[in-house]
Parts: sequence; structure tokens; C-alpha cells
Amino acid sequence: MIAILLGPPGSGKGTQAKRLWKERHLPQLSTGDMLRSAIQSGTQLGVEAKSFMDRGLLVPDSIVVGLIEERSKEDRCKEGFILDGFPRTISQAQTLDQMLIDQNRKVDRAVLFEVSDEELVCRLSGRRTCTQCHTMFHMEHAPPHVSGVCDQCGGKLIQRNDDQPEVIQKRLLVYHRETKPLVDFYANQGKLKNIDASQRADAVSEALGRALQ
Ligand code: AMP
Repeated sequence: MIAILLGPPGSGKGTQAKRLWKERHLPQLSTGDMLRSAIQSGTQLGVEAKSFMDRGLLVPDSIVVGLIEERSKEDRCKEGFILDGFPRTISQAQTLDQMLIDQNRKVDRAVLFEVSDEELVCRLSGRRTCTQCHTMFHMEHAPPHVSGVCDQCGGKLIQRNDDQPEVIQKRLLVYHRETKPLVDFYANQGKLKNIDASQRADAVSEALGRALQ
């Protein structure tokens, strides 16, 4: 199964992809997590990506496409994988289709996470992320047991630069302009399912499970 989790920033794609990884052993390929790891390691790729990410802009295709191509060929992705945050443009989706044809595979399903912009702003501005395992917390709705410390791994929690209010607005704008057209792209291929992602995480997991059947 190769599935794409499609939806705006803050719609819970990362949280649900991590659950699928645990429950169904489908690896999560998150371009956002890969880019943040590259930034943390101080690689050239990370330095290049950071200037775009901090402004809420998309990182050039030449950087993200290579990351996905490399990972999708790993042995652990043989039975499939979950794409989280990729593709984000029509051009990335077309490149992905071609990449998978070359591997004798295809996208099976795209699931659209639907949440209002108002709710997204609330979620993103209160979000805190673990610098080590990338688990997400929310200052009001899902606070960690100890302030500033990850419940899962003890790592340090930070507010991402791109979760600052002005950058959030930019990211939502970019989502509507660049990524939303993918909804029609996958609907036209008969691969799209919509889920209400404004529900609690457990209810979203159930809806996602049904959408992937
Ligand atoms: P995310 O964690 O998925 O919200 O991604 C954080 C940031 O990483 C985005 O705002 C972009 O700057 C960058 N990014 C992640 N995935 C992609 C992608 N597929 N194409 C371009 N930029 C990306």
C-alpha cells in the first residue's frame, strides 16, 4: 500500500502517519521531518532548506524529490509506505507518479485531511515539537507531563520557527495556492478519500483506517 496523506499544515497528518507506522508497520516518509533532521545535522541540504522553511515557503523540488526517491527504494519500504507532506505541488505529484512507474509501483490512495483554517491557526500556534523524535504536543489540548520535555523520549520541546503566527499565515496561503489542486488531481484518478480531521485523534485514526481499506 502506497498512500498519501494530503492536507494543510496542522491537520494531523504527521500524528496519524506515526500511528500507522506503529500499528500497520507502514513506514512514514515525511519530507518535513527529513528536512528538519538535515537542518539539525547542519548538512548543506539543511542549510539550503532552512531559508525557505523559516519563511513558510516550499523548498525547491530538486531537494525534496531526491529525498523521497532515495527513501522509497529502501528495503523497509518494499511493502509500501505512507507519504506525509509530499507531494505538495502538481509537479511533485507528476514526478512521483513517474518515479513509481519506474519502480513498477503506483499510488494506491490519497486521503484528504479536512480542517478549517481557524482551527489550524489555533493548533499550529500552540504546537510544541520534540527536537529528537518529532512527537507533537499542544500547550492547551495535549500538554506534556513536564513542561518543555517530551513524554516519549525525554527530548527538548521547541516551538518551530515556522509555527510563528506570521509564518503560519504564509504556510496556509501556500497550501491553498500550491497543494489544494492535488485534491482534484487525485479525485480525477479515483484515488481520493476525504476524512474529517477536526475530530479527536482516535476518531481520525478510525476514519483513516476505513479510508485505507
Ligand atoms: P511540514 O512539516 O510537512 O509542515 O513541512 C515543513 C516545511 O518543510 C514546509 O513548510 C516546507 O517549507 C518544507 N517542505 C516539506 N515538504 C515539502 C515538499 N514536499 N515540498 C516543498 N517543501 C516542503
